[in-house]
Amino acid sequence: MDTTFSDLLKKQDVFFNSYQTRNIRFRISQLKKLKQSVENNEKLIYNALWSDLRKSEAEAYSSELGLFYNEISLHIRKLKKWSRDKKTFTPLICFPSSGRIQSIPFGRVLIIGAFNFPVQLCLIPLIGAISAGNTAILKPSEQSPETSSAIANIINSTFPDNYIHVIEGDVEVNKKLLKERWDLIFFTGSPRVGKIVMEAASKNLTPVVLELGGKNPALVDENCNLQIAAKRVTWGKFYNVGQSCVAVDYLLIHKNIEKEFLTEVEKNIKFFYTSDPQKSKNYMRIVNDSAVDRITSYLKSGSVYYGGKADENDKYISPTILTDVDPESPLMQDEIFGPVLPVISYSEFDEAISFINKKEKPLVAYLYSSDKKRQKQFLRQVSSGDACINDSVLHFVNHKLPFGGIGNSGMGAGYHGKFTFETFSHKRSVLKTTTLFDLPLRYPPYKKWALKVIRLLLR
Ligand code: NAD
Repeated sequence: MDTTFSDLLKKQDVFFNSYQTRNIRFRISQLKKLKQSVENNEKLIYNALWSDLRKSEAEAYSSELGLFYNEISLHIRKLKKWSRDKKTFTPLICFPSSGRIQSIPFGRVLIIGAFNFPVQLCLIPLIGAISAGNTAILKPSEQSPETSSAIANIINSTFPDNYIHVIEGDVEVNKKLLKERWDLIFFTGSPRVGKIVMEAASKNLTPVVLELGGKNPALVDENCNLQIAAKRVTWGKFYNVGQSCVAVDYLLIHKNIEKEFLTEVEKNIKFFYTSDPQKSKNYMRIVNDSAVDRITSYLKSGSVYYGGKADENDKYISPTILTDVDPESPLMQDEIFGPVLPVISYSEFDEAISFINKKEKPLVAYLYSSDKKRQKQFLRQVSSGDACINDSVLHFVNHKLPFGGIGNSGMGAGYHGKFTFETFSHKRSVLKTTTLFDLPLRYPPYKKWALKVIRLLLR
């Protein structure tokens, strides 16, 4: 065990056991402090995101800071209400008691972030940890080092380390952190590392929330608004240069509209990023050289219909459409996490659904169809963390919808909005009763009449 970490965790234990975080006013004041600090350091964050990923200010706001502000303002406004005990109906068998559900903090929480939205994937879970009254250690991804360091500077100068602290470092640091005992681990990353996290957590029966990824299909039915579908698929694929857990991973398109649809996608790519996306301010870069190598190796799995250019020195891969894709190729096994759109055509809707269902359950399944029956069939037959009809990515920003995966794409009840508070709270059932009288019904020796009453009450 690393002594630095275990000392820090002991300090957090002492602070947690001082019960200060149980106070809702304290939590709200800490949320306000966090919001203020981020506001004061926006420039630092924009610069870091540009340096790590060449993320423009517009995208940095819409995909990181805007989501953070939206979430934290909601928590500041609603926390008092969310944190109240919820009274429940009490069945007659429990007469004369009353029941309620309390939201209590888990205790010490570990939050591990991914590189692709390196700000919000650390700070939104942190909002949940604070709201629910936990202490927290954050470990941002080392793959976006400037942002990791910006987060560490902001958070560590805002909070004392016995309450909230950021630890930076590589995979080895993660491994050490995972050896410690936590009360909850909130992990965002790949299914491969998700398994490592879950294995480590199992040693102490620590609950985990795993926000993972997968191959998200976009099924485009011949009965759809083709122009809008093509625009939203293009955006959902190439936003964040495809490095997004909710990105469209591959396209399943009805053969009758394939040609027209791909012409539209091509038009949209040129409109969004110009004919030379490398020069566009709105087109990001791949996180590192090994990711560039991995993604460019996928280009062998089909014919390049559009794009297919790479500049390793600039970590650039152009928006690419691949046709004649081999469904058994690595491209169609792994999550692509880059700007390559494989296109697979189908003739029957059922055939497209069974193609999706042969793979692991995706984080999100997209359907573009104006046919209500097909929409219903899709939702009934395709299992996925989330689903989105006639749009891409948008469900992610609706804080009224819990965001999260299923099976290989993740576990936990999802987060965002109120669900973030719920995810970081344990729901404790509390039953309270009187001692003024004591019904003999339940005690031995059991009487025949008592059993009759119990039978009546427990039917
Ligand atoms: P990753 O799994 O490689 O890394 C995530 C975190 O795990 C990093 O902080 C990293 O330091 C740590 N890590 C890496 N290897 C480790 C090991 N062997 N032991 C312990 N810790 C280790 O993921 P990534 O490349 O940062 O992000 C891409 C993945 O994250 C994709 O699969 C994507 O779909 C997923 N993702 C999911 C969501 C979501 O909300 N569901 C959001 C963003 C990204």
